[in-house]
Amino acid sequence: MRKLTTKTIVVASHNAGKIREIRDLIGPLGFEAKSAADLGFAEPDETGTTYEENARIKALASAKAAGLPALSDDSGLAVDALDGAPGVYTANWAEREDGTRDFNMAMEKLEQALREKGALTPEQRKARFVSVLCLAWPDGHTETFRGEVEGHVVWPPRGNLGFGYDPVFQPDGYDITFGEMPAEQKHGWKPGQQTALSHRARAFKLFVETGLDV
Ligand code: IMP
Repeated sequence: MRKLTTKTIVVASHNAGKIREIRDLIGPLGFEAKSAADLGFAEPDETGTTYEENARIKALASAKAAGLPALSDDSGLAVDALDGAPGVYTANWAEREDGTRDFNMAMEKLEQALREKGALTPEQRKARFVSVLCLAWPDGHTETFRGEVEGHVVWPPRGNLGFGYDPVFQPDGYDITFGEMPAEQKHGWKPGQQTALSHRARAFKLFVETGLDV
């Protein structure tokens, strides 16, 4: 595995919620990072069919545009009763015809789909959040790191912290949703800490423990 040996990187994202979480994770490690949004980079089309492919597309686009290593995240919510949907298409479920995103609409769509399947109990509404972080270099080399967290979909949505589908996801072992969790509890992680909760924090832990040499 190629290791990251510098602390100046690009956060290859235009999603404010993800950028905030990745900044929270890399900040304590002394990284200097601008996001693809800060740098005015165009958002590449996510034409892949896996998290890994889409994460690579995003990280490579930023790494090549900036001439610096770039870290991207491709993530989604996979619901067992829906055969893994919305999965890699989680963001698409929030898209309106005018191109804007509406996550209340997306959460309602998800609830509707679960009801159509007759999935009403927590057991029938099992789901996992998946995050694949990709580190890409300007020469085209990439490394990926995957994190997952198990839980179930709740209704109605609870909490207004976090972003995206956080208000309808309750991780196993907790009686609150990601939308009700302070940032530190949802995605906080520092070197030496044995466990991380969120999918993104788990992927980040793997990145730091196996992909970093600074
Ligand atoms: P993509 O990685 O750009 O394809 O988008 C993934 C989508 O999954 C985001 O737009 C969010 O709606 C959702 N998502 C990913 N991670 C989280 C999370 O930590 N909380 C809530 N929603 C998330």
